[in-house]
Amino acid sequence: MAQGENSLVISMPGQAQAIIEALNNRGFEAYIVGGCVRDSLLGREPGDWDITTSALPEQVKAVFRRTVDTGIAHGTVTVLKGKESYEVTTYRIDGEYEDNRHPKNVVFTSSLAEDLKRRDFTINAMAYSRDTGLIDLFDGAGDLKKGLIRCVGDPLERFTEDALRILRAIRFRAQLGFDIEKDTRQALKTLAPSLIHVSKERIQTELTKLLLSDHPDYIQEVFDGSMAPFLCPSFPLIRREDIFIDRGLPPARHLRWAALLRHLTEEEAAKILKELKLDNDTISRVRLLTRWWKTPVGTDEISVRKIMSQMGEKQFDDLITFKRFSPGRPETEEELSQIVELTGRIRERGDCVSLKTLAVTGRDLIELGMKPGPALGETLEALLWTVLEHPEKNKKEELVRQLKKDRKKST
Ligand code: ATP
Ligand code: MG
Repeated sequence: MAQGENSLVISMPGQAQAIIEALNNRGFEAYIVGGCVRDSLLGREPGDWDITTSALPEQVKAVFRRTVDTGIAHGTVTVLKGKESYEVTTYRIDGEYEDNRHPKNVVFTSSLAEDLKRRDFTINAMAYSRDTGLIDLFDGAGDLKKGLIRCVGDPLERFTEDALRILRAIRFRAQLGFDIEKDTRQALKTLAPSLIHVSKERIQTELTKLLLSDHPDYIQEVFDGSMAPFLCPSFPLIRREDIFIDRGLPPARHLRWAALLRHLTEEEAAKILKELKLDNDTISRVRLLTRWWKTPVGTDEISVRKIMSQMGEKQFDDLITFKRFSPGRPETEEELSQIVELTGRIRERGDCVSLKTLAVTGRDLIELGMKPGPALGETLEALLWTVLEHPEKNKKEELVRQLKKDRKKST
């Protein structure tokens, strides 16, 4: 069965090779498989090196000293080698699928061909070992050359088995810049509603990978394919025609999600992210960006200090980066450059932009006779405001003098 193209050599990490050899020495077959073979053929750096084998999980565990039962029910054992870890999975056939997502049961098999057949796309269904060369039963290498994402087998069947594959197709398209083969594309539209059965976490992981890819704007295709309503209830708040995500925007989770959601209100954006179970840190960063990006910063030092202070410094830098790649922002390119320059000057001088570096602390105010409580906080904020307008006043004597003057005025 092996259709080895023996001229092809993939250079894999020594540890992966060692695992394959150790299994071979006990009489088992073993190959690197899936994403790492695809990425190696494309000249991309693989994220991880997965190994597929004819050995049963218990047999794998008997061969290696350090293993973890990661997904033993599905046949996956993690083998630890030095600081690295490799997932070694027994050849398997996924049983009948339930609820468009979960195979009811997993059956181990001794046939590599069966294992490759259960995989989603031809480009993900290739195996390789140094001894056999490339095992490519569905012309994955041909599709890689053509730049095509094509299901292994009948696309309607494959998407019915597991609806997550619908989103994976678009995600791989965005990562690789590939086209989706005609029948696969048709099936993906037909079965879009079955995405409703996929867990929100899984949907989020795929959408995040898509947004972090080189073609984040391909997320438009979830609208072309009428998938939006099945991703999460509020997803259709996003309008396809509003989507513009510049490839130049750094691939950070909060920046790319904020770019997708920038035309919504802060509350709408947060609702979508919550429904998709994004982490709180990302949600609060996206909130800040959606709240602030349409507000002009102002091209004078005082305005810049005030916004830096309100947002926090790190978030302020994000805001400027975000504005750079956001058409419809209130500033021109020149104004943004000016703001960056001002920010640099403010930092060089070490101007105070937060209570942390204010020359007066809460304790100082208590020593001056103030009681702890909200009024004390307000006083500190008022002093900070003064310093934002007049950075040269950030000296203890100066601020205390002002405080006494203000008090006199108010009595
Ligand atoms: P990535 O670069 O994102 O890790 P990958 O191709 O390695 O891409 P994984 O999700 O790590 O993707 O899965 C590893 C392999 O397992 C895939 O290459 C594919 O062969 C198979 N696979 C993963 N998910 C599915 C699925 N839902 N249906 C069928 N096969 C799948
Ligand atoms: Mg992977």
